[in-house]
Amino acid sequence: MRRINTVYGTQPKHWVGDGFHVQSLFSHMLGDKVTDPFLMLDYAASKYFEPNEGAPRGVGQHPHKGFETVTIAYRGEVAHRDSSGGGGVIRQGDVQWMTAGDGIIHEEFHSPEFSRTGGDFEMVQLWVNLPRKDKGAKATYQHLSNDRIPVVPLADNAGHVRVIAGDYQQQCGAAKTYTPINLWDVVLRPNGQSQLSVPSDHTLLLLVMKGDVAINASEQAHTGQLVTFESVEQGEVGDIELRAGDNGATVLLLSGEPINEPVVGYGPFVMNTEGEIRQAVLDFNAGKFGQLNES
Ligand code: MN
Repeated sequence: MRRINTVYGTQPKHWVGDGFHVQSLFSHMLGDKVTDPFLMLDYAASKYFEPNEGAPRGVGQHPHKGFETVTIAYRGEVAHRDSSGGGGVIRQGDVQWMTAGDGIIHEEFHSPEFSRTGGDFEMVQLWVNLPRKDKGAKATYQHLSNDRIPVVPLADNAGHVRVIAGDYQQQCGAAKTYTPINLWDVVLRPNGQSQLSVPSDHTLLLLVMKGDVAINASEQAHTGQLVTFESVEQGEVGDIELRAGDNGATVLLLSGEPINEPVVGYGPFVMNTEGEIRQAVLDFNAGKFGQLNES
């Protein structure tokens, strides 16, 4: 078994713009957890929003450079536009995988339809680092609609895995990634139990999104908690075992090959050196990230 490092408590919530009430489970700006190649994860636990006839809630135009943002809509809808010409609505079950690469400007709001009707809103935004050689990749995004994300049953009717990225049991995930990454929604039935394998050289993180789960038959984790693991020593088996409580559980599993390069973050930019950050700010101010079309 891969050994658990820490089961972190739930974190205080803060607003991102006026649309996303999130807890930050980890951040490269704190640097207190080993999460490479993942930089940051904000979790907006399910929250009810009243119908809103005014301007949709969210975050207005802002830049990104040097990494990827992954938005998973579990409930509700996010409307997005960016300076690469992309735009659309991330609906319930959809994932947007945006490569900020050499620079992008975008906005993220509750969709007009969701704003009108109101309802429950639940979302994850994950930042995935890019290796030095790909930080200048052309900005683009992948819209991964729910019906394109493979769902693989777990053995013994224990539940299923939604393979957003990577592969589970030879089933390839929907997203193209620059470095080897697994991003799985693991949904366990009540008392469902499953053994999961990820490559032994990957960093491994779990976010419990729903329910209670026993990990490796030793530690318990609950909704909103992040679990980190030790790296696997030579000759050890890197599997983990999950067992849901009486109400079932949903766990977001993240694993990835570490990039092992210096990380210098400044707001929405993540580069390898201070000099590259200064250049990113200059380039953004000079309008080199493009602009959003008039809506
Ligand atoms: Mn953004």
